[in-house]
Amino acid sequence: MGTKQQIRSACLAKRSALSAGRAMQLSMRISEAVLQWEPYQKADAVYFYYPLGNEVSLLPVVKDALSRGVPTAFPKVTGETMQFWQVYGLDELKEGAFHVQEPSVCRPVQWAHAICFVPGAAFDQGGGRFGYGKGYYDRYFSTHLCRMLVGCAYGFQVAKELPADAWDRRMDCLATESGVVRCRAIQ
Ligand code: ADP
Ligand code: MG
Repeated sequence: MGTKQQIRSACLAKRSALSAGRAMQLSMRISEAVLQWEPYQKADAVYFYYPLGNEVSLLPVVKDALSRGVPTAFPKVTGETMQFWQVYGLDELKEGAFHVQEPSVCRPVQWAHAICFVPGAAFDQGGGRFGYGKGYYDRYFSTHLCRMLVGCAYGFQVAKELPADAWDRRMDCLATESGVVRCRAIQ
């Protein structure tokens, strides 16, 4: 087992060990921080994800964006490919690949100006990210633009520095229960 896999598993084990109540409490704090964050308030398009298990839930933010009519999209996986599909209401989501709730109607969109909230197993202060080991976000953002990638995690998922592969896409910002911060530049 490689280092990346060991760190990923350790972080995911910690996250699974959270009670549902604690995960919800921390997710609420993270959502409140995002709702107060000016780039989100000014965003004219947002890519979200639907939380699975104890993943950080930004559902209060999703509801805010939908209620204000901000164009909102969720990822949908087909084989090796992930695309973002616009949704107008959470009732359009249905269980898809990996048991994740995915858009079932509408169509893929490409919004270069979108803010993208990104789930993950572990992050570092320089914006490094470990996902779940399938590389969907790395592949998608190697050929598509967005305004900003915002990693979403509990504080214990953020390390000072993680190893990175050449293909790993860095986050611009991290949203945790301590707030939304810009990632520091890598020397
Ligand atoms: P994750 O980001 O989900 O933690 P990894 O970074 O380990 O996962 O990437 C998983 C796999 O995805 C890698 O083995 C790599 O082959 C593939 N991958 C990632 N980015 C690209 C890309 N831009 N083009 C082709 N394959 C990629
Ligand atoms: Mg990666």
